[in-house]
Amino acid sequence: MISSSVSSANGRSLLQRYATMLAGFQADNYVNVALEQRAKLQRLDLLMRNIVEQSFDGIIAFDEKGLLRTTNEAACDLFRGTHDDLVGLHLTALFPDVSTFRPSAHADRGDLEGRGSRLEGWAKRLDASTCPIELALRRVSFDQTHWLIAIVRDITVLKAHEDKLRRLALYDALTMLPNRVLLKDRMAQALNIAKRSGEPVTLAILDLDRFKEVNDTLGHHVGDALLVDVARRLSECMRDGDTVARLGGDEFAILLPRDGKAQSALDVAKRLVETIHQPFSVAGCMALEVGVSIGLAMYPDDAEDASKLMQCADIAMYSAKQRGTAVERYDPAKNSNSIRTLMLSGGLRQAIENNQLFLVFQPKLDLATGHIKSFEVLTRWRHPDLGLIPPDEFIPQAEQSGNIIPFTRWTLEQTVGSMIKWTEEGLDFSLALNLSPRSLHSKEILAYLEELLKQSKLLPSRLTLELTETAVMLDPEGAMAKLKQLHQLGLKLSIDDFGTGYSSLSLLRQLPLDEVKIDKSFVETMMENSQDHVIIDSTIRLAHNLGLEAVAEGVETEAQMETLRDLGCDVIQGFLVAEPFLSQDLATWTEQARWPLKRLDAA
Ligand code: C2E
Ligand code: CA
Ligand code: CA
Repeated sequence: MISSSVSSANGRSLLQRYATMLAGFQADNYVNVALEQRAKLQRLDLLMRNIVEQSFDGIIAFDEKGLLRTTNEAACDLFRGTHDDLVGLHLTALFPDVSTFRPSAHADRGDLEGRGSRLEGWAKRLDASTCPIELALRRVSFDQTHWLIAIVRDITVLKAHEDKLRRLALYDALTMLPNRVLLKDRMAQALNIAKRSGEPVTLAILDLDRFKEVNDTLGHHVGDALLVDVARRLSECMRDGDTVARLGGDEFAILLPRDGKAQSALDVAKRLVETIHQPFSVAGCMALEVGVSIGLAMYPDDAEDASKLMQCADIAMYSAKQRGTAVERYDPAKNSNSIRTLMLSGGLRQAIENNQLFLVFQPKLDLATGHIKSFEVLTRWRHPDLGLIPPDEFIPQAEQSGNIIPFTRWTLEQTVGSMIKWTEEGLDFSLALNLSPRSLHSKEILAYLEELLKQSKLLPSRLTLELTETAVMLDPEGAMAKLKQLHQLGLKLSIDDFGTGYSSLSLLRQLPLDEVKIDKSFVETMMENSQDHVIIDSTIRLAHNLGLEAVAEGVETEAQMETLRDLGCDVIQGFLVAEPFLSQDLATWTEQARWPLKRLDAA
């Protein structure tokens, strides 16, 4: 640094000399520094060029007039030209629709001066082909010139991936038909148009008949191949503008917008039935035959919105299935009960999950000892909208819809749970559970039951399964095999509602049964109707001849009880003894009851 002490009279030259020296030194140094700096800048510049060149993204600079001035290698690749080919081209030659580019879905929106805006659109290559791109644009000022720097990325692969995801969300993966989501969307559009044009819209819902059989007997690969072929046939039958969708399982829907009259929709439906009735040959299976049930509903006659329309078509389809008529048009008069039916068949699974089901217990009185020896377990469903639903209503539904298996697992689990709890409380009686026809024939239920008994360590003989006569007669040989297995597990078996079916006596003899339950319809009229009296009498004799206990259900009066006792009936059940009650009411009931409960210590 220059010091003031050197500013003496004869110091001027000194100062001058020093200044000169310093100047010379500084100049030298400046040169060195500048050289070093420049070299550094050059290295940096080289590095930047390298980065730009190595970038996977195309990088392009346009001048103020929008003319391309420089590009990197990736941009040349993307546009399929050399650097020289590209230089001088106008921005719109490469991005013809730039004014319509949308903000990129993959980035936040930016602005030209700040972080730069990221857009999505199409690029035109020098060979005239196009590709989807993402474009980041940024305006920069440099060397007193304004530049527009563009970073271009080819998003063909990304787009394909996105398309695939969209397809997965909107289309069924097996048949490639639109799924329920897309159908709903198309329905909304069609109804919107129809609202203005006044033209009706028809929705057809199709459900294959006997598809489950195909799946169960020939395997899922045949079932899948069949569904693909059905989808193809349905699509071929329809015109452009109609939507054929798969709703799930073996259920399809067809939306016929702007379809004139109900008659023409019926014609379409009939054509569809004929098409599906033609034998299929899929997955090596020749001449596979399936039927179809179709329900039709029309906007605006039957329903005012998409979800109602769907519900009406569903109800009509259900009605076609029940009547075996192939095609049904929605008819509110015919279908007033069907909404309830649908709510029940669809809601049972949720009912289990949401604890809407509960058990009640009805005692069985041993007439010889005057003790309660067991309880029958009966299920109830407290539906949030429909109130208390009797089992007679929802169990046949569940049998049809296939929801019976989870239901039966639930009842088994709950029954065994109750038995464990009561055993811990010192009560020793058996429980009787009703087993639906489908559950009886299900392998899964048998295995589940076996596992449950093993884990609970309960005596299997404390559990009785009640099977209706009709369940057994549906498939006597299959039932026989299943009953033998259940018997081997040590369970007790009872034939329920006896007298209402058509059991063959010889079959009854071969079954490993323990009990016959005389149906309550005979008990109800036995005092007035001598024929019913005779039937009860002979059923009790038959039971005893086969070594079985005779149980009479639906006993409501003392007179009935006494007559049954005279006839030699072993056990009675009915409102006279008790109406079915909740497990928590057992103690109260026991206190008041005429009949004592069997206790473990009394056993
Ligand atoms: P069920 O096996 O014949 O059961 C006897 C039915 O008669 C029960 O009706 C019971 O409440 C009723 N009952 C009992 N005593 C009397 C009486 O003195 N008079 C009259 N009028 N009725 C009496 P609920 O509980 O409505 O059950 C109806 C049917 O539903 C049952 O008939 C049974 O087949 C089925 N069910 C009930 N719970 C289940 C279950 O958990 N699983 C299966 N698979 N079926 C069940
Ligand atoms: Ca029963
Ligand atoms: Ca019964």
